[in-house]
Amino acid sequence: MNTVLVTGGAGFIGSHYVKELLQSDDVARVTVLDALTYAGHVENLGEAFLDPRLTFVEGSILDAVLVDQLMDGHTHVVHFAAESHVDRSLAGEPLFVETNVLGTQILVNAASRHQVERFVHVSTDEVYGPLLEGMATEDAPLLPTVPYAASKAASDLIALSAHRTYGLPVCVTRSSNNYGPNQHPEKLIPRFITRLLRGKPVTLHGRGEHLRNWLHVQDNCQGISAVMRHGRPGEIYNIAGGTDLTTVQLTELLLKICGADQDLMTFVPDRRANDRRYAMDWSKIRAECGYRPEHDLLEELAATADWYRAHPDRWAPLSDRAVVIPQQATTPAL
Ligand code: NAD
Repeated sequence: MNTVLVTGGAGFIGSHYVKELLQSDDVARVTVLDALTYAGHVENLGEAFLDPRLTFVEGSILDAVLVDQLMDGHTHVVHFAAESHVDRSLAGEPLFVETNVLGTQILVNAASRHQVERFVHVSTDEVYGPLLEGMATEDAPLLPTVPYAASKAASDLIALSAHRTYGLPVCVTRSSNNYGPNQHPEKLIPRFITRLLRGKPVTLHGRGEHLRNWLHVQDNCQGISAVMRHGRPGEIYNIAGGTDLTTVQLTELLLKICGADQDLMTFVPDRRANDRRYAMDWSKIRAECGYRPEHDLLEELAATADWYRAHPDRWAPLSDRAVVIPQQATTPAL
């Protein structure tokens, strides 16, 4: 029976993952360690919060003593905790390096000492930086553009170094853009949905031609579980296979789903360092771990909009506090 320590389990993806984990019969105990920053909410865990196998610990991955105590008795670690919002990172806050890099170092140190059986470090396609053409495989160079992506790239290397140095059985997952219920309204899809539902305009950067792969959050969680079970220690696995859309294409779908007028789509000058295109090859996880995404974008975007429609209590107080970054085009378009 597995005992799993999940960091960042009150955040968007972590909370979906904890719910999935608790559906599994071979999980005896789950401990969530979450600092409950502006991005973490125990409400995200829903009924899972009351599951007798779950222990929730409010605390930071930067607290080495706490992390060491918690690691004892856990066979597996899944590490989601991070500062995750690109726009906030553009302000150059040291918190991104502290949480994402130092926090990961503290976790892998403790996990190595306690000889956990598997450590899954959750990361992002943004570490590869923009691609003009082709798809990034796991051995593509790390060319992050923004501080968030750079801190994640550094944390990936820290996690992998624990495998090489101490033999910690680390796997790194890098997924494309996730969407689904419970996501903080500072992120693009919930920001657009919550504005369109209130009849407010949405603003696209540049000409809205940035291309992203949109993956349902439960598909990412399924990929992380597949890597936990079948991934080879020391390996990186890309998780994608969602739908590639430009921001304009995505916005047109959201306008339809929310029953909003076309003229609510507005444009502002591009933001700083806005990568033009991300694309990942995910054949490795498919071949080695049997991963296949199952969710249909149109159906799930509609379900996501329904969730925000039904839960204004959850997002309205947060929307008003969403961060605003000055618009500025300082880098040439790719
Ligand atoms: P999120 O911002 O919704 O959640 C982050 C969680 O980490 C929050 O609950 C927060 O309270 C917690 N946290 C922050 N600092 C902490 C600390 N010092 N100690 C303990 N907990 C702390 O993020 P998310 O979107 O759920 O992303 C989770 C992970 O997945 C991140 O590592 C992110 O880089 C990665 N990722 C996200 C996406 C995406 O589209 N959202 C895509 C690829 C990878």
